[in-house]
Amino acid sequence: MSAPAYKRILLKLSGEALMGDDAYGINRATITRIVSEVKEVVDLGVQVAVVIGGGNIFRGVAPAAEGMDRATADYMGMLATVMNAMALQDAMKNIGLNARVQSALSIEQVAEPYIRGKAIRYLEEGRVVIFGAGTGNPFFTTDTAAALRGMEINAEIVIKATKVDGVYTDDPKTNPEAMRYKTISFDEAISKNLKVMDATALTLCRDQKLPISVFSIFKQGALKKVVMGEDEGTMVLP
Ligand code: UDP
Repeated sequence: MSAPAYKRILLKLSGEALMGDDAYGINRATITRIVSEVKEVVDLGVQVAVVIGGGNIFRGVAPAAEGMDRATADYMGMLATVMNAMALQDAMKNIGLNARVQSALSIEQVAEPYIRGKAIRYLEEGRVVIFGAGTGNPFFTTDTAAALRGMEINAEIVIKATKVDGVYTDDPKTNPEAMRYKTISFDEAISKNLKVMDATALTLCRDQKLPISVFSIFKQGALKKVVMGEDEGTMVLP
């Protein structure tokens, strides 16, 4: 069997990925399936760090936060990501994956604080590290946290799980002519305003030459294919 294409990856999971077909929160069957896909790549010997979003619970810019002070709403959003991180850790434990949660906000009773060196050590020991609370700063997103943590832990790639199996020339749901890019440059993705990640995350990855792979978390086996370097989703390259 061929070797994985990467030794260390940063997987960005949106909060919505955990919802399954539900309207809100965490769907048990969905989270179990996602962590078993993560286990498949851990079993290949790949070091996996995860940045988890919070959109299935709370978003600082969502209607639920309307009228609120933005920073307060964003801190609530970050706390939502910590809840997801704890749920992920629990689901991983249930299938025999050893995972640690590190939070960018200090809430030490529930998660240890983010410490870069410790996170890297866990990864070297074969544990999954789940980063909660985004960057720890309001006005940012967990996409930006993924880019930042990916750079900090020297990940070779940021793998962004979405609902669509890659980046398209147009919205494939409304335009049947839309084509999937196999690869695209950062500059093209930014100038065409394609929905890969938000602009801050994209420019960070571009400047540090950290490739991004966009794939569908709803497609069984897709994560493993990306990790094996097979044609899956879209690669955004410097
Ligand atoms: N958030 C923040 N700073 C960060 C990361 C997240 O303030 O560094 C807040 C923000 O309110 C955001 C919410 O947390 O809306 C949930 O994160 P995000 O929307 O990125 O989650 P996802 O869309 O990936 O589920």
